[in-house]
Amino acid sequence: MYLFWLNSILLVVFNRRDRHVSFIIPNTAPDESGPSRLTLSTTPGPSRSSVCVIGGGPSGLACCRTLCDAGLQVVLIQESRGLGGKLCTKFVNGKEDPTLHFDMGVQVLKPRGRFAEELEGVVKPWPRVGRFKRIRCTGDWRRWSIQGSEDLPTTDLVVGTPSMSAIGRHLAERCRSLEVHVDRTAQVQGRRKMTGQWSVMWSRAEANAGQLRYRPELAEGASEVSYRNFDAVVLAFEANKVLHGCKSGYKMVPSSVSPALRERLSGRTKTSQVWNLMVAFDRELPMPWDAAAITGHGSLAWVAVDSSKPDRQRVPQCFMIFSTKEWANWKQWSKKEVERVLLYDFMSFLSDTLGSWPPEPCFLLSGRWGNNTEAGLESCTL
Ligand SMILES: Cc1cc2nc3c(=O)[nH]c(=O)nc-3n(C[C@H](O)[C@H](O)[C@H](O)COP(=O)(O)OP(=O)(O)OC[C@H]3O[C@@H](n4cnc5c(N)ncnc54)[C@H](O)[C@@H]3O)c2cc1C
Repeated sequence: MYLFWLNSILLVVFNRRDRHVSFIIPNTAPDESGPSRLTLSTTPGPSRSSVCVIGGGPSGLACCRTLCDAGLQVVLIQESRGLGGKLCTKFVNGKEDPTLHFDMGVQVLKPRGRFAEELEGVVKPWPRVGRFKRIRCTGDWRRWSIQGSEDLPTTDLVVGTPSMSAIGRHLAERCRSLEVHVDRTAQVQGRRKMTGQWSVMWSRAEANAGQLRYRPELAEGASEVSYRNFDAVVLAFEANKVLHGCKSGYKMVPSSVSPALRERLSGRTKTSQVWNLMVAFDRELPMPWDAAAITGHGSLAWVAVDSSKPDRQRVPQCFMIFSTKEWANWKQWSKKEVERVLLYDFMSFLSDTLGSWPPEPCFLLSGRWGNNTEAGLESCTL
């Protein structure tokens, strides 16, 4: 899923579908004439170099593992409650109640090499052979219909058990002496002249109404603000957020980018958005497949029966649907509109699949992934 080079001047992480840029800001002056060198001490004791990893998604966790293994002092800051980034499962009624569960981002993994070894015990194969389809559609904005389908290969595909979120926790637990701060958004504030270290602040801003609806405890706020200096920082999150920060809600934060990095990144990253729709039925529909990558449809790009994943509750039957990028960009959709228009397209698609109109869903919620990095830098030196 990702590649990274550590022993280099800069650490760069790319991902298969949502390519994020991650880099270490070295503790040396930017050298415009050529690559700067990152030298970090792993000698035990106070001289051991410290690194702050910002972002607890797959990239950040991979960095943490490598840096911890190398004997560095590593602190991970993650802005939401759980680790794993887009590798996460939402339990609508809280973790204690696994009935309504939706894999919000990563749907299925094809881990290789060391990553596959690391995941042993926390993943199981999914979908089964013959249950993963590419479904071809045709039509116009009034009506789409299914033209045909073909099987997609399922070799080495896995999902997290009992949920995708288990993977993030598992990977973090395997990092020796990792210090983790969750529910805190980090910002690199600058570099101290005297020591050359990078100052990082982490805190939580005020939640907006939408966030409070799903997490009322955020109303209590988080008064403490933490600051610390590090020899190096890894920005392991969306390139768009690295450049522009986040403008609203409890994750609000200014940009973390240094002037040199801004110059390198500006105009060279590409960001996309997709809408997701979580739909559940109070009985199991006789689905002929577990996951479908959809082509030729105006609004639907992906449908997965999350309840068919191993160790999941089968009823209510939970579906995760992703819109196409084109549909997401077509206009500024409100959540209510998405829950009406995308739901109708999904129900029509299910009706074509099952041969009859499906029952009313017992649960419906939309969400948006708005900062998906499509392209970043292949390599970057400060
Ligand atoms: C809709 C969708 C579906 C996908 N499906 C698949 C799939 O099926 N299989 C697959 O292999 N890949 C899939 N991908 C790609 C996959 O999600 C990414 O490759 C992967 O999540 C990237 O990992 P990352 O760690 O770089 O970023 P992320 O997973 O985005 O993690 C970044 C983390 O940083 C945190 N963060 C951001 N800013 C801050 C801050 N200032 N302070 C603290 N924390 C911060 C975020 O909260 C987040 O947790 C999908 C992507 C999308 C958008």
